[in-house]
Parts: sequence; structure tokens; C-alpha cells
Amino acid sequence: MTESIVGGFAALNLHPAVLSAITAVGYEEPSAIQAQSIPVILAGHDMIGQAQTGTGKTAAFALPLLSLLDPARREPQILILTPTRELALQVAAAFERYSSDMGGVKVLAVYGGAPMGPQLKALRQGAQVVVATPGRLCDHLRRDEKLLSTVDRLVLDEADEMLKLGFMEDIEAIFQALPESRQTVLFSATLPASIRAIAERNLKSPKHVKIATKTQTVESIEQAHLMVHADQKQAAVLRLLEVEQFDALIGFVRTKQATLDIAEMLERNGYRAAALNGDIAQAQRERVVESLKDGTLDIVIATDVAARGLDVPRITHVFNIDMPYDPESYVHRIGRTGRAGRTGRALLLVTPRERRMLQVIERVTGQKVAEIKMPDAETVLEARLQRLTNSLKPLLEGAEAARGEIGTELCRRLECTPEQLAAALLAKLTQGQALDLESVRREQPAAPAAARERPAGDRPERAGERSGEARPRRPMEPLAEGRVRCRTALGKRDGIAAKNLLGAIINEGKMVREAIGRIQVRETFSLVELPEEGLDRLLGRLKETRVAGKALRLRRYHEE
Ligand code: ADP
Ligand code: MG
Repeated sequence: MTESIVGGFAALNLHPAVLSAITAVGYEEPSAIQAQSIPVILAGHDMIGQAQTGTGKTAAFALPLLSLLDPARREPQILILTPTRELALQVAAAFERYSSDMGGVKVLAVYGGAPMGPQLKALRQGAQVVVATPGRLCDHLRRDEKLLSTVDRLVLDEADEMLKLGFMEDIEAIFQALPESRQTVLFSATLPASIRAIAERNLKSPKHVKIATKTQTVESIEQAHLMVHADQKQAAVLRLLEVEQFDALIGFVRTKQATLDIAEMLERNGYRAAALNGDIAQAQRERVVESLKDGTLDIVIATDVAARGLDVPRITHVFNIDMPYDPESYVHRIGRTGRAGRTGRALLLVTPRERRMLQVIERVTGQKVAEIKMPDAETVLEARLQRLTNSLKPLLEGAEAARGEIGTELCRRLECTPEQLAAALLAKLTQGQALDLESVRREQPAAPAAARERPAGDRPERAGERSGEARPRRPMEPLAEGRVRCRTALGKRDGIAAKNLLGAIINEGKMVREAIGRIQVRETFSLVELPEEGLDRLLGRLKETRVAGKALRLRRYHEE
């Protein structure tokens, strides 16, 4: 299973500890700039890389450089120059993440506005990776010109930005303070003459890597974007889903974990949603796609890799919940809708620092991506009432006189008025969803961490409903033939991930991977789909099994 996920990265000869860290971060495939830069940097060449913002340049240099680093040497080995303090912190955090499995790697950010003493001390205490803004680093060099004498690899990140900020002289001074024999890598979105001149003076026969941005058209797809802060994304997703009239929708995120988190959040909010990522077995992936096709599912949350080639005519909406990492994959993503001559709609969430990527997308597609605002409470309420009206209308027409008598009888037994009865039925039908303006305003969408076990029995199922109507709340996806669900009381709060359960069941249960279906890890419990045949024997084999130090105690799960 794992081969297919990290296949793209696995072929790149990265250090095994770096590879395992990327897997943990959840990247499935190298972006174009990564696939092309990593071999060049690993081979020790100087390099000039040109690619737009958001294409994954940090990992393009961080992964090969970490692979070349010697953790036993406790002195600066890698120096990254970035234009701003914010970027220095971001790049340092990325290095920390990618080196978390290596052991003994220290990363230091050096920037202005913080006291110099502690930075210098940390530098001398053997941080191997130094991420710095040029100005502050030069201040340090003036006090100790030997400071960088051990650095053997240098990266200029966002070189064009650094020049715009007037760092030309500082950068030249830093070049002079580094050993002649160093490797130098320069990344920039644009290559003006000033940058080429720097490269000419300081790089040795550099290889060029350029990710071209081609113009591609996407007619028949209506595009819109919404500006959000990263922590408002889930709320934005919920609100947009309420007001958008979709039939089936595919949402794109960057990591496998995000597919699970968002799909779970949507399920909790009453949508029929599932995750699609590289960790999910092929057979199960096919089932998800089939369910989306036949209308058993309405929403699939996928990574780019898992959704490759997906062709479901029912898809009316593509939702870019996370920004794609290049314009090509944006075009590819939104091409999942508007198929076979139909029109489609593409929504894009943009966080403030991704603004530039939005411009790139507009340039590449040659189309304006209109801005929309977060739907306000009035709009959300109107959409709810509309859906409710649509779903009740056909029932009203079909209602027989006999039902009226039952109503009267119920009112008598409950000692209530028909209005009170209607209100109670409505509350049951809508699962207590807010239907007045004040409550909608106050409403906070269910937070991702607060996973609750949902009572499965009290959900009125109404057949034949599609978009634009109140959706039946479906607690679980239907099971494939011959499979049953099993439950363990271990969940996220026990530090459990799907792969831990999978590993335990495969190893101790002596199962093949293909026999195990979908695994859902919730906060306080997890569900695993297993073959019904031989289940008792399997559960017997797993009787003493412990995962993350705790007893697994897998049991057949009865939904009724
Ligand atoms: P750039 O420097 O080109 O603007 P970044 O290196 O900041 O881009 O990467 C942008 C985002 O893309 C980051 O959130 C990063 O974690 C993510 N990312 C990078 N590479 C991958 C990948 N191969 N798969 C998924 N996400 C990635
Ligand atoms: Mg960058």
C-alpha cells in the first residue's frame, strides 16, 4: 500500500528519514518543481529554479539538502536566505517538519527585531540549518566573520523579493563569507537581469529548472473565490455548501489527513460525504466513486492524486478547499466538472498569503475568478427554508386524508396544538437545525476536534431525495457485500492513526491488505470494515492485540 503513496517521492533517492517525514506530513506526490529540482540538488549541482509562489519550492530545496546533511557535524551546514522574518520562520518550520525523523538536526531562524545575543549563541551551539534574513545575518558577520565558514550549501529563496527589498549588497557580503567550494541554489519567481548578474558572479555552471506556466482555457466552468483565514476554512465550507445548489461535489485538499478531517466534518453536519486518498485501498476507492456516480454519496473530499482521471458526470461543483500547488493542477481539478457539455462551478478558498497564486491562476486560465463573500445569516436561512420547502412540497401533494386524522390523534395524545406538533416534527426532520435568523447568526459549525458518536437509529430516511432538498442524514456509508463494520474504543485521543490499525490487523490478524476496507478514526473510537467470513476467527486472533500500548478489543459493530 505504502509504495503507491510515496512512489513519486520514493524514486527520488531522498534520505529514508526524510521520506518518512514527508509521508507523515501527508504529501502524496512531488510537485513539478520538486520532481525536477531534487535530483539536481542531490547531485551537488548549483541550480537556478524558477517557479511561481505556491508551487512547493521550500520542499524542493529542503528535502534534498536535508538528505545531504550530516547530523553528527554540529555546526552550520546549510544556509537559507529569505526576504522577510515571516518567511524565515516558515522555512525554518518546514525544515523542522521534514527533519523530524532524522534525529539531531537543529534549525535556527535568524532575523531582525529580536536580540542578537541569543541568536549568536544558538549559532555557535551547532545548529546545522540556519534560515536568515540577509540584513541581520550581515550584522552577525560584522561581529564574527568566521561565522559561516562551515556552511557548504546556500539557498537564496525568493531572490527577486530580496533584491526588491534592497538586500543586494548584503547578499554579496554573505557570498564572500562562505567557502568557495559551496553549493549554491537560487529560487525566484522571476529572473530579471539583476538576478542573472548575481548568478553569473556567484554560481558555478548552474543547471536551470523552470516550471513553465501555460495558458489553458476552461470555458463552461463558472469560477469564484472566497478570501478566508486558514482557521475559518471549515466554517466557510459549510456555509458555501448551504447556499450552493449542487448535485454532486468534489472538494480538493492537500493532505490525506485533510481528506479525512473534512469528510468527517461534513458527515457530522449531515452530508453524505467520503474521503478519497492514496491510503485507501483501490477497491474501496472504486466503491466511493461508484457511490458518487449513483447518488449514494454527494460529496467526495480528495487529494489531487486520488482524484486523477475521476469522471463523474453528476459533479456540478469543484471546491478547492486548499489551494492547488500549481495552476496546471487547478485546471485539472476544475475539469472534474463541466463535463460532457454541461456547465460547472468551481469554488476556491484563498488565504491571505495565497493571493499571488490566485493571480497566477487567473493569468494561466485567462479568466477572472470572481470574488464572493462569506454567505451571511440571511442567505443561509433563506437557503434552508428553500430546501425545506422543496422537500416537503411533494409530500404535501401526496398526503392523504387519513394522515390528517393521525395528526389529530397525535395532538390529542400529546395534548398539543397542530402548530406545536408541526414544530416538533420539523425539529425532528431538520435535526434541530436553526431556522430563525438569530440562531443562524449565533451558529458555530461543529468543530473538527469535537467528534461525537452519532446516534444511528433516530435518523428519518427519506428516499428519492437529491440536491436542492433537505438531505437525509446518513450516519454511515453503505457497506459492501460480505463486509461488516467493527469497532474499537481506540481513537484519535489515544494517538491512533488509520495506518496503526491497519498494520495491527494485517500483522496480528494475518490478513492481506485488500481484505480490509475503510478505516475511520474518530476522536474516541474507530471503525474498520472487515470481511464477514471468518470474522470470529479473526477477532480471536486479535484478542490480545495492543495498538499504541492499549488493548485493541475489536468488536463487531451493530448500527441498529
Ligand atoms: P512556494 O515556496 O513555491 O511558494 P511552498 O514551499 O511555501 O511554496 O509550498 C506551498 C504549500 O504547498 C505548503 O503548504 C506546502 O506544505 C505544500 N506542499 C509543498 N509540496 C507539496 C506536495 N508535494 N504535496 C502537497 N503539498 C505540498
Ligand atoms: Mg517559498
